Amino acid sequence: MDADAAMQRKKAPNRLLADDGEGSVPIDNSTVALGPATMDELGLFVGDLVLLRGKRRRETVCYALPDDYCPEGRVRLNRVVRGNLRVRLGDIVTVHRRDGVPNGAAVQVTPFQDSVEGLAGDLFDPYLKPYFGGGGLRPVCKGDRFVVHGHMHAVEFKVVDTNPDVGCVLVAPETAIYCNSGDPVKREDEERLDGPGYDDVGGVRKQLAQIRELVDLPLRHPKLFQTLGVKPPKGILLYGPPGTGKTLLARAIASESGAHFIVVNGPEIMSKMAGESEANLRAVFEDADKFAPSIIFMDEIDAIAPNRDKTHGEVERRVVSQLLTLMDGLRPRAQVVVIGATNRPNSLDPALRRFGRFDRELDIGVPDEVGRLEILRIHSKDMPLSEDVDLERIAKDTHGFVGADLAALCSEAAFQLIREKMDVIDVEADAIDVDVLNSLRVCNDHLKRAMEV
Ligand code: ADP
Repeated sequence: MDADAAMQRKKAPNRLLADDGEGSVPIDNSTVALGPATMDELGLFVGDLVLLRGKRRRETVCYALPDDYCPEGRVRLNRVVRGNLRVRLGDIVTVHRRDGVPNGAAVQVTPFQDSVEGLAGDLFDPYLKPYFGGGGLRPVCKGDRFVVHGHMHAVEFKVVDTNPDVGCVLVAPETAIYCNSGDPVKREDEERLDGPGYDDVGGVRKQLAQIRELVDLPLRHPKLFQTLGVKPPKGILLYGPPGTGKTLLARAIASESGAHFIVVNGPEIMSKMAGESEANLRAVFEDADKFAPSIIFMDEIDAIAPNRDKTHGEVERRVVSQLLTLMDGLRPRAQVVVIGATNRPNSLDPALRRFGRFDRELDIGVPDEVGRLEILRIHSKDMPLSEDVDLERIAKDTHGFVGADLAALCSEAAFQLIREKMDVIDVEADAIDVDVLNSLRVCNDHLKRAMEV
């Protein structure tokens, strides 16, 4: 930990970084682990209940366990708990001791629709009974989600109510558990935690900062913008060659801001039957409004909205007008942002680029050396790299490569390695020997050869 980080921690010792690394104690949906020194510092004892506070004011309650392997200043949380807190790895979670959580008289849970598709019957005995009856009183907070594994099918539930309605209760043997299996809940913003984050997009730091300001902030804090009387843009145009990460960037904004994400592929929507393109566009905007905050991503928008002076197609003209009408019709408070991507900004209908429509443009160019290094780091982060790998050198040698090329380069290098190790990997065996796995390293040669492919 550097000096700055150490200072920060002194000031706020209960602000911890979300981690999911290996530990000396198992964690589950109801337990989190902290280093013993951190436990001490926060005045926590084994099995104390802690209130965890994450993003978007999400809170949940878990038991705290000391973990010798957990680095100081970190808290190990499993996916379910991270989901409940709406945090990603590396995000800050605040941890406080939480005394006096009452036993619940009743809790009401409902499964998620997509996790019970194809399942019939009562979920109580196979899922909820073993989950809550397995010793220990599980704390549950209203709004929490939890996954129960078993019966060849994991089911995800949501806690919709607790009695007493005090935010969090313990599920004790006397607690009545009501499960509304007949009316499963639809997933709203919950699944997006798995989507790509800002740290998955490399080489676009400046653009990222702008986008956050233009899209993420207004979508996340509409009130602030309203109060200040600032109108956030309705549309943003990203331009740059294919494979530079325009789609990835838009997806990252959606998942980080928790917005509903709708992709519209320009050529695809245009290839529909005459008249359907417009109806499809209208349906997209209706959906966006319904599920707001939303981001509509229009890939190859030049196909949807070519310059009307230069196109002879009647369909194109009608679709351009339809798009303009829809964008003009977006209410300022609709919390819908349209992100268009194109490699040919000049072939767009100029009316689209006027104020109040796509009035911001960001150039997502081919990455420079520093950008390439960032992207290489992102795509090699799950790879065991041999010591002779010099990513900086590779970044130097890959002039003209875009993000997609660099991603392909990394997976090709891994592929080279596997091909080479086919003789030591027993392909017939059910499991790979740990020693073999341990010996696998992507080295410079693999990357070099991958560059020649
Ligand atoms: P575009 O929309 O500009 O054509 P994509 O976002 O579809 O490009 O990029 C394709 C893939 O290439 C991404 O899913 C990602 O794996 C990789 N990639 C492209 N650009 C970047 C980048 N800037 N940072 C990290 N990965 C990238």
